[in-house]
Amino acid sequence: VRKKFQPTLSHLGEFGLIDRIRKRCRGVDAKLIEGIGDDCAVYSASKNRNQVITTDALVEGVHFDFRTQSAESLGRKALAVNLSDLAAMGAEPRLAVLALGLPSGFPVERIDALYRGLSARCRQYRVALAGGDTVRSPRGFWIALTLVGETRKNRWFRRSGARPGQVIWVSGTLGDSALGLRILSTPAGKSPDLPERVRRYLTGRHLEPEPRLALSQALVRSTIRVGAMIDLSDGLLQDLGHVCRASGVGARLQLERIPVSQPAEKFSLVNNLRLQDWLLGGGEDYELLFTTPREDVKKLKRLIARAGVPVTEIGTVLPDPKVLEVLHRGRPLRQRKSGGGFDHFR
Ligand code: ADP
Ligand code: MG
Repeated sequence: VRKKFQPTLSHLGEFGLIDRIRKRCRGVDAKLIEGIGDDCAVYSASKNRNQVITTDALVEGVHFDFRTQSAESLGRKALAVNLSDLAAMGAEPRLAVLALGLPSGFPVERIDALYRGLSARCRQYRVALAGGDTVRSPRGFWIALTLVGETRKNRWFRRSGARPGQVIWVSGTLGDSALGLRILSTPAGKSPDLPERVRRYLTGRHLEPEPRLALSQALVRSTIRVGAMIDLSDGLLQDLGHVCRASGVGARLQLERIPVSQPAEKFSLVNNLRLQDWLLGGGEDYELLFTTPREDVKKLKRLIARAGVPVTEIGTVLPDPKVLEVLHRGRPLRQRKSGGGFDHFR
């Protein structure tokens, strides 16, 4: 007798799994404006305001390692990655709840340090730490942070708003965080000599990303027509793929336009790495990717100059949803079928 095929998580992949869950969660609440599939869920809270909610878990050995990151720094990162999802919706943060999974024998001093980092960042971004849950974890430490925020009723951003002809923009520089992680995971003595400045910058970008809330809020307050927005957590091609799928469009990127930091350039040169792989596939940059009509470019450039945040034009939205191409000196780049971005189960 042939055994019935039993798919596992590695068959489905993270996004196959989320799709499956989404189908099982349909049709509950009319107040839900945006459900599973965007950076935050959005629901109607009052006549003038929407509320948004997002959650992210960080697991020891998967997302962080106490040998390379202090608990205090981890607390700051946990808030940052959730704030980044709020930024992607054009939302302002309001409150946070935090669930902790603790192995017995976990040093209390580390929990103090975690909350030191977390509450410093909460004060900085005016987030109230309002509750949570504490449970024992048989193996390893984990935290799951949930953030609630607000948007105006008629002014917030989603993944599904990209339209053909729009310009694709990205904030900051890409690939730094993935390169920083590579530095952190290379045993001491095994990596070529690196200027301390390069090492500090790249690892800092991985350990302590800065959420782009100020840019997002500046855009919310402007009259610039933002098509779609997403924060880059899984890698440029993968996250742009999410925008394209949600919007029913395609995209063309120009490789030479993708913003690179000097340390990333230096590090990839010294280590003989193909920088393009890190720019297109490297995760956890927590920069914003968004689209605007071409007519709003001037306005956007003025806003960028005022806000002091680097934002770069990297491509165009195309009508054909089957196309996601990267041009290098005018020629399409050959790519592996998957963009090389991050999937928890593959
Ligand atoms: P992000 O990287 O922006 O946090 P994810 O890729 O983690 O987004 O998730 C994509 C979408 O799937 C989000 O809308 C998220 O709320 C939803 N999602 C992820 N995991 C689950 C789950 N276990 N159950 C329900 N929805 C989920
Ligand atoms: Mg996100």
